Amino acid sequence: MSNRPVIGIITNVELDRHYLFPGYPRVTLNEDYPRSIAAAGGVPVLITPSKDLSLLADQLSLVDALVLAGGQDVDPLLYGAEPRTECGAPNPTRDAFEFEALRLARAAGMPVLGICRGLQVTNTFLGGSLHQDISHSGSTQRHMMEANPAVAAHGITVEPDSFLDEAWHLAQTTVNSFHHQVVDRVAPGLAVAARAADGAVEAVEYTGDEFDLVAVQWHPEMMSAADSPAGEQARALFTWFVDLAAGRWEA
Ligand code: MN
Repeated sequence: MSNRPVIGIITNVELDRHYLFPGYPRVTLNEDYPRSIAAAGGVPVLITPSKDLSLLADQLSLVDALVLAGGQDVDPLLYGAEPRTECGAPNPTRDAFEFEALRLARAAGMPVLGICRGLQVTNTFLGGSLHQDISHSGSTQRHMMEANPAVAAHGITVEPDSFLDEAWHLAQTTVNSFHHQVVDRVAPGLAVAARAADGAVEAVEYTGDEFDLVAVQWHPEMMSAADSPAGEQARALFTWFVDLAAGRWEA
């Protein structure tokens, strides 16, 4: 056994469209996530969503920190809204599983990094809400790019003294962008750590003492292999998070 912290990543479950059994439930996760964690010095392990929430306490007892990955739109009913036409089909099993994971992580003081959907789930779990499509926020800025995901696509402004400031020591930078929803009401207990030029919330962090919870709206895992400043910043973010998990492990 090494001294590397173990980082659990919750995967997606979706119906197969490409292989032998169309409609068959399959566990999926972009390989970028475990690759980015391993490159930052962590040991990635995958945790698969289940209807049996009683599995989670034992699963989380095996890891030092948790990553909530990208994926489907969060069910609007969870933030008290009716679904609008622009909203994608929800995944109730994954929503419930990740809510329970956040509840247990908070109770255990376990660090959490949310990415894209992970930010949106976190904001919903803590009592915030989402715009079901960015157009509903009044913004006309494009946040769903079609470009190479390893290349940064729009600017962000980083809040002084936020976790991003700590990880990067930068006030302004650029990130990629593959989301069609954004935070509407920021949840109580969350502070905005970065915004896009249109005001879109691009990063948040938890202000309470129970656990270290941070989340970003972009996809650092898709940039972390790039030989560029964007790649360097993505790697620095994963290193910052793995070091946080290591600190807890050593404690
Ligand atoms: Mn964006």
